[in-house]
Amino acid sequence: MQHKTIIEPFRIKVVEKIRMTDEAERIAFLKQAQYNPFLLHSSEVLIDLLTDSGTSAMSAEQWSGIMRGDESYAGASSWLRMEAVIKDLTGCPYILPTHQGRAAEHLLYARLGGPGKIFLSNTHFDTTRANIEFSGATAIDIPVPENKQTDLLLPFKGNLDTEALKKQIELLKPENIAGVILTVTNNSGGGQPVSMANAKEVSAICKQHGIRMILDACRIAENAWFIKNQEAGYENKSYKEIAQEMCALADGCVMSAKKDALVNMGGFLALKDLDLALQCRTVLIITEGYATYGGLSGRDMEAIATGLQEVFEPDYLDYRIKSTAYLCNHLHDLGVPVVRPAGGHAVYVDAKQFYPHIPVHQFPGQALVCQLYLKGGIRTCEIGSVMFGKNDENGNLIPAAMELVRLAIPRRVYTQSHLDYVIETFEELLKHRKNTGGFKITYEPPFLRHFTARFEPV
Ligand SMILES: *Cc1c(COP(=O)(O)O)cnc(C)c1O
Repeated sequence: MQHKTIIEPFRIKVVEKIRMTDEAERIAFLKQAQYNPFLLHSSEVLIDLLTDSGTSAMSAEQWSGIMRGDESYAGASSWLRMEAVIKDLTGCPYILPTHQGRAAEHLLYARLGGPGKIFLSNTHFDTTRANIEFSGATAIDIPVPENKQTDLLLPFKGNLDTEALKKQIELLKPENIAGVILTVTNNSGGGQPVSMANAKEVSAICKQHGIRMILDACRIAENAWFIKNQEAGYENKSYKEIAQEMCALADGCVMSAKKDALVNMGGFLALKDLDLALQCRTVLIITEGYATYGGLSGRDMEAIATGLQEVFEPDYLDYRIKSTAYLCNHLHDLGVPVVRPAGGHAVYVDAKQFYPHIPVHQFPGQALVCQLYLKGGIRTCEIGSVMFGKNDENGNLIPAAMELVRLAIPRRVYTQSHLDYVIETFEELLKHRKNTGGFKITYEPPFLRHFTARFEPV
């Protein structure tokens, strides 16, 4: 029989207590955090959907690997194991371990970038863009136009616009383009997947013009689920084979292990070009650590090696993608405006549509984030004008393109009943929609204001 209920394909061996709070307590906590959930203590949160980064639950195999971790400075067996797993996945001969994804980005983009250089991507993730711009280079996003249509049910809305790519190459000249970065899944583009056909086309265009193609492979296993289940010709390939095929199209990969390697810290850079690898390795040794550990302990590398294998297990990926879709579809059925179809790792709510009476300069996304915390103890992240808005010279808000709230799902951490609780909280919020008000900012730092800004209800 075909069951409707998604059961988690694991049972629980160790538990972590959630401190239960009531609304009265949460009113006080939120006031103390000055209406910015980034300033809450995690113990004040019931369900933490702030990010899927570094929040995975490790398996019994990974925890036993922690005991086996070899802490030798050079040539540790844990390094050799992790290196072999990454070589097998990426097909790259040169692997550089780093303490997290952005360190790998810094090694690579500081070498390839610099003033006058340009990078093109389906969407640069914020640390990717920051590392490129920090080198003096320019980052240009060219997602397919469908990416911005939040209710258009197409399977691969994370794709790169290949027509725009050809035009940009002609306009900017190949010698000025330092790289084309394909981010799978497209994290900043709603977590939407990229098709193999698109990756192949991007690769062919890059090869034709002698431009380097880099894969940002943070969620390559989640992306492989969408290819196997939604792209013709991949039904009988394994998830790992699909990921290997995609890596083979690129000249190198950058990965934050905090996502699809199912660990809490780590990352790597994988390259095919020896010369470039040697340049990056020199800086790796100066800034991160020796070439066979980067910024990682032997035990971390052991856990990464195991996580990178477990993440391709069909039962895990099926549960992972279906539970994100479960939350997305239930919210949609309730009448909550969500970005559809669901991406791999998160559900995005359109707060401007949810609270149409709250003007953008009073931050409807922040209002939703605060209500989810007050009514349910749920912590989420505003991705709208608090995060991306700017002020003009008169101090008036230049709003972001969209006012979204992201519900990111940590891997293997919450069960279906936790998601049901989130859905129930939205039901309650819908009832109080009309008399929910916005916020004003009372303090903001000059950069990345969403992390530390303070607010007051208006
Ligand atoms: C998280 C992430 C990064 C950066 O990785 P960190 O481990 O957080 O430094 C880069 N690219 C994408 C797509 C990401 O999601």
